[in-house]
Amino acid sequence: METQAPLSNFIRDIIDEDRQAGKHNGRVHTRFPPEPNGYLHIGHAKSICLNFGIARDYGGLCNLRFDDTNPEKEEMEYVNSISEDVKWLGFDWQDREFYASDYFEKLYEYAMALIKKGKAYVCDLTADEMREYRGTLKRPGKASPYRNRSVEENLDLFARMRAGEFEDGSRVLRALIDMASPNIAMRDPTIYRIRRAAHHRTGDKWCIYPMYDFTHCLSDSIEGITHSICTLEFANNRPLYDWVLDELGVHHPQQIEFARLNLSHTVLSKRKLLELVQKKLVSGWDDPRMPTLSGLRRRGYTAASIRNFCNEIGVAKFNSIIDKVVLENSVRRELNKTAPRRMAVLRPLKVIITNYPEGKTEEMEAVNNPEDEAAGTRKVPFSRELYIERDDFREDPPKKFFRLAPGREVRFRYAYFIKCESVVKDDNGKVTEIHCTYDPETRGGNNPPDGRKVKGTIHWVSAERAVKTEVRLYDHLFTEREPEKVEEGKDYLSNLNADSLETLADCYAEPVLKEAEPGSRFQFERLGYFFADPIDSTPGKPVFNRIVTLRDTWANIERAQK
Ligand code: ATP
Ligand code: MG
Repeated sequence: METQAPLSNFIRDIIDEDRQAGKHNGRVHTRFPPEPNGYLHIGHAKSICLNFGIARDYGGLCNLRFDDTNPEKEEMEYVNSISEDVKWLGFDWQDREFYASDYFEKLYEYAMALIKKGKAYVCDLTADEMREYRGTLKRPGKASPYRNRSVEENLDLFARMRAGEFEDGSRVLRALIDMASPNIAMRDPTIYRIRRAAHHRTGDKWCIYPMYDFTHCLSDSIEGITHSICTLEFANNRPLYDWVLDELGVHHPQQIEFARLNLSHTVLSKRKLLELVQKKLVSGWDDPRMPTLSGLRRRGYTAASIRNFCNEIGVAKFNSIIDKVVLENSVRRELNKTAPRRMAVLRPLKVIITNYPEGKTEEMEAVNNPEDEAAGTRKVPFSRELYIERDDFREDPPKKFFRLAPGREVRFRYAYFIKCESVVKDDNGKVTEIHCTYDPETRGGNNPPDGRKVKGTIHWVSAERAVKTEVRLYDHLFTEREPEKVEEGKDYLSNLNADSLETLADCYAEPVLKEAEPGSRFQFERLGYFFADPIDSTPGKPVFNRIVTLRDTWANIERAQK
């Protein structure tokens, strides 16, 4: 499925202006710069679609750059999952896979260049003293006593920091900017720290590591990026981004900030998602309830539905929360057009058609997809013993319940009119079976010649021929729309939804689903869109994940509560 045409937005406007002005010779080169410290989530998808989408639409390039300056938290597992997710989303960085760690030597030289210009110094203040000297929004900072060190002394100390002569945390390299700046980011920020930690790519080669603000702008510059698109939190750091590049007189991309994606009923922070994984509150990064790309993929979301979602929500300069329903509607819209219809019963109740011959089966013709004529029809076996959804029968039907009840007649989709004649119960009074009759004149589920009408149509499967399957139903991972909004003393985990996963082991599906390819998607009539789990399905025994219900039942419930 194609992604819809891009909407214009303020970032594209800036690029259009730059191109008209001949900036960077009209070239457009963006990058997606993840830190490999977790799996990508749907918020990253917004950034990926934006960066790769802009490059595609302007005939430019987009790099994949791993921002790996923090040795303690980064791992190859994350690098691999990130690559897989970007590819799955449908984007190609060709041979432009870069690592900030590849630039460590160059960054070191740039730091030396700043020192030589008198624009960086080695500072021996402790972390606590640094905090004290930094000042606050209301109080200007104070100059470090080490601020006046000579260029020679700074060059010597910085070289010895690299050589491993000093303890972790005992000294840092700072940019010399302005301790009185109203912008705290400009009060002589740290640009290098000493950290003896093995790096996933450079091993033990380095014991000093450059800070994000120093690394990011220079990585952009080295790669010839033209537009460096990032989220709003970095607006305060833009003057520092510009300062470093201007002081060094190197290629200068433009940083542009946009509002990050916030999605209702979930958290989008790698730290928190990691906590859910580590505490085993979910089955892993790819748990189908997770907002990660691997979780959404495992749930059954298509890449196109995620791209269309990212396109649809647009790009703004103000933070807001997008309702999860918008994401769900995107996959509904696609699967409504593409998913074959099937019948399956999740909570079975046995039905016996007492006037239907024992041992007889009829192959009923069922439409595969009313939205797609080319999808054709299939045969569904009908027999004396069937299963229907327990919910579709009420012994004591409330008003407006138009499904099966004692004495009531309904349409069994594609089969017959069926009338409930009597009910069988166990010792506890639970209905275990219902006995019905069928009207042979209604074959195919058509109205009878006498013009009799019924109000309800329900789905069913043949008890003898159905395939038994496991189905997993999912609800929001968090009960609250904004799970991070909590009272004092509580944290977001207190809003975890204890009922977000329901596993139904005794479901029955029409026989063709026995051969469902793992990774294929279906609409189970009246129940929603389902995905044959690619990992847990075995040949002849598919396991299904519900991707979404058919309609947005949550919005209905919430509306009803208001
Ligand atoms: P998190 O807050 O989840 O840990 P991060 O910003 O630390 O995310 P990075 O790996 O640094 O994660 O992000 C890579 C890119 O994705 C950055 O350009 C970042 O701005 C962008 N990004 C991260 N989260 C979102 C989001 N929710 N919406 C849009 N873009 C995002
Ligand atoms: Mg980050």
